[in-house]
Amino acid sequence: QPVPPQVALSLQNVSFSYPHQPQQALSDITLTVEPGEHIAILGRTGCGKSTLLQLITRAWNPAAGTLQINGTPIESFDEAALRATMSVVTQRVHLFSATLRDNLLLARPEASDAQLSDALTRTGLEKLLDDAGLNAWLGEGGRQLSGGELRRLAIARALLHDAPLMLLDEPTEGLDAETEGQILDLLADVAQGKTVLLVTHRLKGLSRFNRIIVMDNGQIIEQGTHATL
Ligand code: ATP
Ligand code: MG
Repeated sequence: QPVPPQVALSLQNVSFSYPHQPQQALSDITLTVEPGEHIAILGRTGCGKSTLLQLITRAWNPAAGTLQINGTPIESFDEAALRATMSVVTQRVHLFSATLRDNLLLARPEASDAQLSDALTRTGLEKLLDDAGLNAWLGEGGRQLSGGELRRLAIARALLHDAPLMLLDEPTEGLDAETEGQILDLLADVAQGKTVLLVTHRLKGLSRFNRIIVMDNGQIIEQGTHATL
């Protein structure tokens, strides 16, 4: 299956419950996302934001309703095509006990060292290259990264992966205002022309988005632009 150059999403009456949970985590979600649209998803903790992104990555299947990518049901995609179609920045960034190079290559195995260094520079991580370069050992037994550096590393991976759909789960959570601003600027640059769903608790920077969706209790309760909400 080829990777589509652009991604439209369509969720129709999607509901979902986690195994052994009586309550629905998502209930009757209907949402259409245009190619290249940038959407922010807001809502209280536990309202289903991460779950919504996880259904789009097919980590879980809806109990009811349909989920389509460019008009094709998500279950028809083979795993490789689905992975190549989306870049995912999860709420908790995982650092592998491995070299800096290998921590980046998982996003794009064929990338050259020059491309890896470029991704680090664009995400403001060039100082990680100081001591051992791309051979620097990260994680257990090696260099640990700060929260902000971890987020930047996740964005560097997304940049290398270069997929037409970006799913970003609180990419600036826990960062100071200055770093947050830098990361939002960087994302705006990286995400040009791509379809973006970004989960956030912050109200800052929402004017950058084409649409804002507010969730509560597994449902979409409001949507509009920064100006109309
Ligand atoms: P936050 O802003 O805190 O990240 P969220 O909006 O992302 O919250 P979700 O993680 O989507 O919320 O969780 C939605 C609901 O599903 C919550 O009630 C949560 O407790 C529950 N839930 C999440 N993951 C699981 C799981 N793996 N198994 C069972 N229940 C889960
Ligand atoms: Mg979450």
